[in-house]
Amino acid sequence: MRVVIIGGVAGGMSAATRLRRLDAEAEIIVLERSGHVSYANCGLPYFVGGVIEDESALLLQTPKSLHRRFALDVRVHTEVTAIDAAAKVVEVVDLSTTKVYELSYDVLVLSPGATPVIPPIPGIARAMPLRTVEDVQKMSEAVARIPSSAVVIGGGFIGVEIAENLHHRGVATSIVEAIAQVLAPLDPEMAQLVADEIQGHDVGLYLGESVVAIHPSTVELASGELLDAELVIVAIGVRPDVSLARAAGLQVGSRGGVVVDKFNRTSDLSIYAIGDAAEKTDALDGNATLVPLANIANRQGRVVADHIAGRTVRPLKTIGTAIVKVFDLTIATTGWNEKRLTAMGVGFQAIHTHPASHAGYYPGAKKMALKMLVDPFTGEILGAQGVGTEGVDKRIDVLATAIRAGLKAPELADLELAYAPPFGSAKDPINMLGYVAENVLSGLEETVQWNQVETLQREGFQLVDVRTAQEFAMGTIPGAINIPVDEIRGRLNEFNQDRVLVTCQVGMRGHTASALLKEKGIHVMNLDGGYETWVNSPSARNLQLVS
Ligand SMILES: Cc1cc2nc3c(=O)[nH]c(=O)nc-3n(C[C@H](O)[C@H](O)[C@H](O)COP(=O)(O)OP(=O)(O)OC[C@H]3O[C@@H](n4cnc5c(N)ncnc54)[C@H](O)[C@@H]3O)c2cc1C
Repeated sequence: MRVVIIGGVAGGMSAATRLRRLDAEAEIIVLERSGHVSYANCGLPYFVGGVIEDESALLLQTPKSLHRRFALDVRVHTEVTAIDAAAKVVEVVDLSTTKVYELSYDVLVLSPGATPVIPPIPGIARAMPLRTVEDVQKMSEAVARIPSSAVVIGGGFIGVEIAENLHHRGVATSIVEAIAQVLAPLDPEMAQLVADEIQGHDVGLYLGESVVAIHPSTVELASGELLDAELVIVAIGVRPDVSLARAAGLQVGSRGGVVVDKFNRTSDLSIYAIGDAAEKTDALDGNATLVPLANIANRQGRVVADHIAGRTVRPLKTIGTAIVKVFDLTIATTGWNEKRLTAMGVGFQAIHTHPASHAGYYPGAKKMALKMLVDPFTGEILGAQGVGTEGVDKRIDVLATAIRAGLKAPELADLELAYAPPFGSAKDPINMLGYVAENVLSGLEETVQWNQVETLQREGFQLVDVRTAQEFAMGTIPGAINIPVDEIRGRLNEFNQDRVLVTCQVGMRGHTASALLKEKGIHVMNLDGGYETWVNSPSARNLQLVS
């Protein structure tokens, strides 16, 4: 059996090495257009920034080492230019010699990845994308000349990573992002924390702005503003590379990726497609989706090798778990966000918490912001987001695992998670999300979200801030009165009897207050996530802009 694999990085090389472990005899040929295989493209931004100093650290294998260990025939500088699916033949160009030849296959695996989206704006030729080792080499050479300024077009995961790394190299850097926030997978009240972090490190941030032209030393924004930009990086996203697949007549889906079945077979059953080029199945709604991330590319490579080798495989669905570092912050997401749930008309209950990374009394505890989205009727966990300096990664990983395992949100309360003061809390942030979910879903507590406050105030709800007078004096939601939680019992006559909205710092004292007021027959709701969530929301930021 001859298996030909197009693309020798995440998906392609996982497929090749796994297949060799399962089948000692198969002829496995990997064709890679660039000069490198099996490189760590996720590490590329850190090489530009000098955090990873040695380029060879990113090059995990070479054709020689892969041949030695796995008897793979790996050909770099080798591009596949066409697939004849009927004849089961690919057309190949050896880019070093320009020699063209044909290669027959029994099974073909497509893992050509994605291509950066390059917007058609004047001057775009001088903007650099970051996708391959060759791209990073070019960018590193440009950065080594210490440009006085750089503009990164795009505030997504790669855009913010590269901006941080340019800043790390001492380059005055700005990010221009067309939508009103960075990191689209986050909801706006979470993304604001990241925007603050970026601006706090003197990286310029232009949100809701787009670049309309690139000039020799500046970029021009739609607003007419010119930004100094000796270096321009373009990172506005990627799209599946389906050029070969489309030309070969393989089905391309509505999301723009190669359509595959549950075994990653394309519309031609001798051809598989994996990684960024292939459409995935969303675990929540079963629809086609695109998730250009390394984990799923690697996993699909393995699944396809297993299927080729005749093993039983578990079909893969995706929830799109992702993480990124932005200066001192860790930002992680899994599943769907509120924007997407709303757009899809899916009902949800949002829960915001602001727990400490470990027991507050043990030195070094850091506060984080967590948001979980839950089906209000079934308790299914639909998605989660976390932003903080410590402990976010493990919480989102637990939530991603919970989603995969089908745990209901209240069951998070039952998880027995490792605890000692330096690492967590006896009531871990994950358990706390479960407690809140249990209270809210069972109707024990009624919560409202930051974006409902104004409307409820207009409807006549009395907004009561139950923090201390000192905290209240340092800032509160406009229109709130202050009755500290410890004084509630003695000041019950000050409460509006039928419509009260309580708020505190993060929602916990509000929970105690609402329980107390409810006992007294008052219709009360608690602001989810408290002042801390509200103050980072567009509601608060718009007010600040007005004042
Ligand atoms: C800068 C950067 C940072 C990233 N950071 C992260 C991260 O932190 N976390 C994460 O999960 N993901 C990250 N990713 C995404 C991740 O790298 C990809 O999802 C993953 O590599 C996709 O694997 P793949 O096999 O589909 O494609 P790739 O790994 O991109 O490999 C495709 C290969 O196919 C080759 N090829 C294409 N067409 C042909 C052809 N016709 N003939 C021969 N060869 C061809 C290409 O040269 C390329 O080397 C990052 C990506 C980049 C670029």
